Amino acid sequence: MTAAFAPNSVHARDIAFLVHHQTDIAGYRETGGTLMARGEGVYVYDEAGKKYLEAMAGLWCASLGFSERRLAEVAYRQMLELPYYHHFFAKGNIPSVDLAERLVQLAPVPMSKVLFSCSGSEANDAAIKLVWYYHNAIGKPQKKKIIGRVRGYHGNTVAAVSLSGQPQMHSDFDVPLPQFRHTDNPHYYRFHEDGETEEQFATRMANNLEQLILREGPDTVAAFFGEPVQGAGGAITPPATYWEKIQAVLRKYDILLIADEVICGFGRTGNVWGCQTYGIEPDMLSCAKALSASYQPISALLVNEKIYQAMLGESKKIGSFAHGFTYAAHPVACAVAVETLKIYEERDIFTHVRRVSPVMQEGLKATEDHPMVGNARGVGLIAGVELMADKRTRTPFPAEAKAGALVERKCLEAGLVVRAIGDRIAFTPPLIMTEENLQEMCALFRKGLDAAWAELKG
Ligand code: PMP
Repeated sequence: MTAAFAPNSVHARDIAFLVHHQTDIAGYRETGGTLMARGEGVYVYDEAGKKYLEAMAGLWCASLGFSERRLAEVAYRQMLELPYYHHFFAKGNIPSVDLAERLVQLAPVPMSKVLFSCSGSEANDAAIKLVWYYHNAIGKPQKKKIIGRVRGYHGNTVAAVSLSGQPQMHSDFDVPLPQFRHTDNPHYYRFHEDGETEEQFATRMANNLEQLILREGPDTVAAFFGEPVQGAGGAITPPATYWEKIQAVLRKYDILLIADEVICGFGRTGNVWGCQTYGIEPDMLSCAKALSASYQPISALLVNEKIYQAMLGESKKIGSFAHGFTYAAHPVACAVAVETLKIYEERDIFTHVRRVSPVMQEGLKATEDHPMVGNARGVGLIAGVELMADKRTRTPFPAEAKAGALVERKCLEAGLVVRAIGDRIAFTPPLIMTEENLQEMCALFRKGLDAAWAELKG
């Protein structure tokens, strides 16, 4: 049974020919989805002309909104000049050199080299492969296990999804691979014990990580991956002192740290990097999304000199660095990313984020007076709002109520795109949102909450 759309309408053809990712396929056949047709600033319009304020910047990524002409023009010029050239066999192209140089300059800690890919997943996949390659190169081939976190998200390739702590993405796909382990989700509001402070909770998280490392055997544990702020896990900001304590454990057991800055990178938390916001000092750093404002698919992995020296040695030994992708370091994507970074600088976008973000954070915090909202928390222009059936006892809604999905739907009806991650509503608007845009966003969210509450009560 499929939904009753006019034959040959775009919705009917969509259902007939496409599989939508991270979507209930059977449900989609009944209801269809929302097909966006055009964008203007921080708004998108569906194929019927309905306007939406985009509070998720697509997938946490359209940092400059949806109508930045400079990026379109730079892509066009690069396509005329050199539309494609690869990075294999001692070849390359000029925009990739410009971009790599800029990224090394911007890095939060001294970084040595950049490897390009086309997606966040591939950047993290490359990091995973390099963790293994590095330990082979330095003569510690037994040090291979990699630790991610419950609800962490690092992508959807076989290795990146194994690293991710998202059980619904594991079941039935025959992952995770055996080398991966997961430690706690640092979600203070949800998991702290009565009377436990953020600092005490962070200490417990670090102790649990240490126990995991000791159980596995420190000589077998190679690396820890973490997002400065967990994104797809629910826009979860870490509790105070968390990163300091986690890093102390990693240093104690000589474990590499990889910061996944795919969401946080380029201003999301109010600094260029989430690493700067939380004092994280990684050995490798992956980034994507806002790197090109998502006008082109591109990601980067930055590696420090220690990793690079090991790569150099290993590559000399075996004759080449046998890794890469056809479209990696694509000149059009690199040119667009270079221009994006210029726009951030010229318009002082990261200062803008710090200036306007209180409007969003305070506006969302104010929804804690709503009967459905237990907690709102965030940093810069990323936040998560947790729905609760009983906020006094921190009791969630029953799963069957699908409270998060209901709020998401009611917001969409009200003209606001948000994302429900279970019963957490995530916000990551384009970085260019003005105070007025953010006020409108909070007002539309309250409208969506009211409509959802009216239906739930009924
Ligand atoms: N890492 C993080 C933190 C992400 O949020 C995502 C995507 N949402 C990825 C990696 C994977 O990126 P991609 O979808 O471009 O492969």
